[in-house]
Amino acid sequence: MLPFARVTIIGLGLIGSSLLRAIRAEMPTVILTGHDASAEVRETARRIGLADDITDTAGAAVTDADLVILCVPVGAMAAVATDIADDLPADAIISDVGSCKAEILAALTAALPNNPIIPAHPVAGTENSGPEAGFASLFKGRWCIITPPADANPVAVERVSELWKRIGADVEIMDAAHHDLVLAVTSHLPHLIAYTIVGTASDLENVTRSEVIKYSAGGFRDFTRIAASDPTMWRDVFLSNKEAVLEMLQRFSEDLSALQRAIRWNDGDALFNLFTRTRAIRRSIIEEGQDDPAPDFGRAHS
Ligand code: NAP
Repeated sequence: MLPFARVTIIGLGLIGSSLLRAIRAEMPTVILTGHDASAEVRETARRIGLADDITDTAGAAVTDADLVILCVPVGAMAAVATDIADDLPADAIISDVGSCKAEILAALTAALPNNPIIPAHPVAGTENSGPEAGFASLFKGRWCIITPPADANPVAVERVSELWKRIGADVEIMDAAHHDLVLAVTSHLPHLIAYTIVGTASDLENVTRSEVIKYSAGGFRDFTRIAASDPTMWRDVFLSNKEAVLEMLQRFSEDLSALQRAIRWNDGDALFNLFTRTRAIRRSIIEEGQDDPAPDFGRAHS
């Protein structure tokens, strides 16, 4: 049996449009409704047939939903929840896909105290945004971390888990605060580092911008992919997951200082040992199927 008969997605960007495509592909009888704050996005969504109905207001999108998934930037979650409160059926389950969880759980619970709230975070994405950037296979073989509150109804958790499994994700259940700590180091800190390196390089005075671009294959290029990620999304992530990011940033700064010392004092063993350890981590990621084994990220070399 299908976990839900009528699903509403609010926010039709990369993640929202990918979810609609994936549900349509794997559970074609589910009735899909979508809404986005942007008239242009709604127009595109209608043109490419993302859902059975695209509504002009958030309220109209949820009136007969069994499940509503908020796919808007983290900073917009609370406002959308308040917006749909009066139109939401009493038993509709609310979920979201935000990249940090503790603050969103608190905001959704405050705005919608009577509905079951089962937040989720698919650990999948690209550096592109918008309804045309999505694709149905985005979540296949990727983790979806579900962070229910301690008193969540187990049946509601099971139904949301089942939806993600049906579209190909591997599901893990985790406490929201723990999720935020783990993701601070695996996702938020790497983005912050990429934004810094690309910013630093573009500010250099004694190396020209054209040289930075021309010789980017030396490693810089791979940071630019991450640093091209959506500015609204990432601004909200850092402001929402502030504590965990600052804690990881502190540890990172200490480790960077240790590396600085090793270089200054010609401590080759320290450098070699660290680089050996980090190489093994890359191998584990590939062994667990979380990245492609092709060298240089599978880029074609003539
Ligand atoms: P996106 O492509 O920028 O899409 C977000 C959409 O939400 C945009 O069309 C935006 O419209 C719309 N929106 C903004 N405020 C709204 C509101 N109040 N009501 C209705 N629609 C609204 O972003 P995304 O990458 O799909 O990210 C969506 C969520 O997924 C974020 O919470 C993010 O943290 C999470 N997430 C992202 C990734 C990733 O890699 N991208 C991965 C996992 C989770 P405008 O463009 O007009 O503002």
